[in-house]
Amino acid sequence: MNPMNKKSALVVFSGGQDSTTCLFWAKRQFREVEALTFTYGQRHVKEVQVAKDIAAKAGVTWHHMDVSFIGSLGRNALTDNSITMDQKKPSDGPPNTFVPGRNLFFLSVAAVFAREHGINHLVTGVSQTDFSGYPDCRDAFIKSLNVTLNLGMDEQFVIHTPLMWIDKEQTWELADELGVLELVRNETLTCYNGIVGDGCGHCPACTLRREGLSRYLARRK
Ligand code: ZN
Repeated sequence: MNPMNKKSALVVFSGGQDSTTCLFWAKRQFREVEALTFTYGQRHVKEVQVAKDIAAKAGVTWHHMDVSFIGSLGRNALTDNSITMDQKKPSDGPPNTFVPGRNLFFLSVAAVFAREHGINHLVTGVSQTDFSGYPDCRDAFIKSLNVTLNLGMDEQFVIHTPLMWIDKEQTWELADELGVLELVRNETLTCYNGIVGDGCGHCPACTLRREGLSRYLARRK
């Protein structure tokens, strides 16, 4: 299908590097783009303001929904300050920054929301390449959920995952191609310690982001 025939899309939008890149990707692909940001009990509510500001800059309609019950269902380091974050993926399962059900809930809620707004394209920034041990970032899960949503609501949703098969270095490259490298670098919030832009520099999210950026910048020269 010619992308220009596609009407509108809803981006699951956290204000981080990945979903911001996806937001601008979606603006290229779809005539109308809306963004949906979730509060899920994350440590840094600043994320929500960051997302709102970026959406305004991107000129897309921004929505916010509080689904904090997700964070309180199980214990994890992203929503519970008393847990020290795993710096690496343990050998026996996902790291404790994994919020069980997060993408399942996010995309399911997003689909219901999109349906109410007459939107059938959903965009999410999950990536299997850098999936950090999160099972709900894998392609098989997304495809399976896509089928389930269509069956469950008798709709034809299409979940787009522009970052699924690219790593952080290529995600920076994509942001550059979309003309938003500096915006993504300076204004997004990926850091688990809640610091915008280059972040704290040492949490797992910052490490992944920084290493990808330095590889990309070295290659771009
Ligand atoms: Zn950090």
